[in-house]
Amino acid sequence: MRKIANIVLVFSILFCTFTLPKQSIKAKTLGQLKAELAQYEKEYNKNKNDQKLTEQQLQQTKADIQKTSLEIENIMQDLITLQAEIEKLNTDIEDLDIELEEIVEFYQVSDGSLVYFEYVMGAKDYTDFIYRSAISGQLAEYNEGLIVDYQNKIEENNTKTTELENKKTDLGKKQESLSTMLATIEDKISDLEELSISIEEEIRIRKEYVKLYENQYNCKDDEDLDECIKGKVPTDTTLIRPLASGYVTSDYGSRTHPVTGQIQSFHYGVDISTVDNNTPVYAAGSGVVVAVSTAAERGTRCGNNIVYIQHRIINGSGKIETYTTSYWHMRASLVKVGDTVTNQTQIGIMGGKPSEDSCSTGAHVHYVVATGLYLTDYQQLSTYNAKRINPRMVTNFPVLRGYFKDRTTRY
Ligand SMILES: [Zn+2]
Repeated sequence: MRKIANIVLVFSILFCTFTLPKQSIKAKTLGQLKAELAQYEKEYNKNKNDQKLTEQQLQQTKADIQKTSLEIENIMQDLITLQAEIEKLNTDIEDLDIELEEIVEFYQVSDGSLVYFEYVMGAKDYTDFIYRSAISGQLAEYNEGLIVDYQNKIEENNTKTTELENKKTDLGKKQESLSTMLATIEDKISDLEELSISIEEEIRIRKEYVKLYENQYNCKDDEDLDECIKGKVPTDTTLIRPLASGYVTSDYGSRTHPVTGQIQSFHYGVDISTVDNNTPVYAAGSGVVVAVSTAAERGTRCGNNIVYIQHRIINGSGKIETYTTSYWHMRASLVKVGDTVTNQTQIGIMGGKPSEDSCSTGAHVHYVVATGLYLTDYQQLSTYNAKRINPRMVTNFPVLRGYFKDRTTRY
């Protein structure tokens, strides 16, 4: 109970201290973007005492998960051992049953007390007589011993069965509570990938973004950003899968409690995974790199390296739609802000092993799609509360846990 209480406390601290002021500014011109940045900085300075979940607290949670998993594994091992024992007992009893049956049969056909006598008298010669005499003596003893054995084994079997049943019941209860706990913790950890960027880092990213418009695209303060980047940011017609092959391991949408069915958290991306062998991650389509956030810059391994790409997609009716895609947990990012990319550009290397990323439980790419240009179409004053949509609306993926053999085949 205390463990659960601690975990709840840790996450309560995290979520309480990470609340950002709600705003509904839409920066459409460079001037507005600058104003938004200034306000953001002001808000941040007001709430400077905010704390975020430390790496240490995360490690503790991970250790707790590992410990409980190990416990389940040990109990499962015990159960397997007990089951094997019961199986062996049952075989023994079967064998005893057969032997006993033979003896009982013998008793019945031979009128009980006369059994050995008749058997001995049935000898066909002297050698056989000696042999039968010896055997019948042993048989009498063995006979009694066998029945005692039989009774003991049955008793033993009953004890073991009760033991097993009790253990099974305990295990069932334990598994239920552990899986509830694990689900809660895992959901909380996946929530963290959305929150893993400090406000300082957001401010740094925003400053670079303003610089990109100002220096690389020469936008004016009162100029509409959409208009300004026309002809400067390459267009594309589609956004394709960022990995050359792999599986869909988690979908966009709410995650529910396995037992109560209550909605616990929302997963804002599609997770894809494949063999972890310095696997290349590609841009989903042509565009420009608008932000790169490295683990080193944030001072946390949570989320590891993240790349944001701004796209201008020509839709079916010839209109331009703007999107921002992001790629999380990468072992390394291979691009920098301002780089122009195509869907053939390798932007990084897939990561996500727990040892290198404290907010991931295995190697994968967390692929996020938001509508609008980066930082210009957001509902709140937070990079990570952008208008994220189900990536499936623009990028084709097979069903959950389905395999894709290349980047473009439609499923
Ligand atoms: Zn994810």
